[in-house]
Amino acid sequence: MEYDEMKTMVKTHCCAQCSGALTIVWNGDAGEHVLVCGIDHSHQGYTEIGTFSTQLARGKADERLGKGGQSEMEKQLAKTKHPLSTMPKVDLGTNKELSEQQLIALNAWGVSLGLKPYLGHVCLYYGKPYTTVDGYYYRLAGNKTELRIGTRPLTKLEKEYYQIPAGSYAWLAEAWQNGVELPTTGLGVVTKEEFEGKSEKNTEQWRAPVVHAHPQRMAEKRAEWQLLRKLVPLEEVEKAAQGVK
Ligand SMILES: [Zn+2]
Repeated sequence: MEYDEMKTMVKTHCCAQCSGALTIVWNGDAGEHVLVCGIDHSHQGYTEIGTFSTQLARGKADERLGKGGQSEMEKQLAKTKHPLSTMPKVDLGTNKELSEQQLIALNAWGVSLGLKPYLGHVCLYYGKPYTTVDGYYYRLAGNKTELRIGTRPLTKLEKEYYQIPAGSYAWLAEAWQNGVELPTTGLGVVTKEEFEGKSEKNTEQWRAPVVHAHPQRMAEKRAEWQLLRKLVPLEEVEKAAQGVK
């Protein structure tokens, strides 16, 4: 990870294991700066610092509002806001604006999966509907044992092991339950080709503008998403729903 990217992450992320603030230290052996937990350097993984809207989207508003806060907020939102008004208005792959018809179909698809589209649980990506990271967390929120999920860039060794092409961004997402690491992981890769590629139709434009702007963030999100997809048994339901679309 570049030093500037670490500096940004100190502000946006915390330790996945203890929620402690992150800090940048010099690793003499590796000859590079590393981003570590400020409380215990051996802790693994980073997680986004949750804003209230993220907590709400992930079904965790009770943590801030007290018991019943989440369902109360949901009731109010469902009443006051048109479900389409808070949904992402663009295709997250192409950044193209969605038509009202697409939004209506996407909303219906999300509701059929037991999700709350007005909380940002579904999106369209290159024309296909997907459950977002927040949507998966929302489904996990009811679980009795809390799952902690952390992300981190792959080490040099892991990049070799996974045969990641040079110049790519590659992140790993890992999960812990009761402090025990689960064997399931998620890998997120953004290749150089992908974030530097130009559009075939218009060579002045990037092929994937969203990925080009934030390749590291995208690799991180993809890793988290891949892991959540494996941990939350929603995939079969999604497939069926896509089939009837
Ligand atoms: Zn920590």
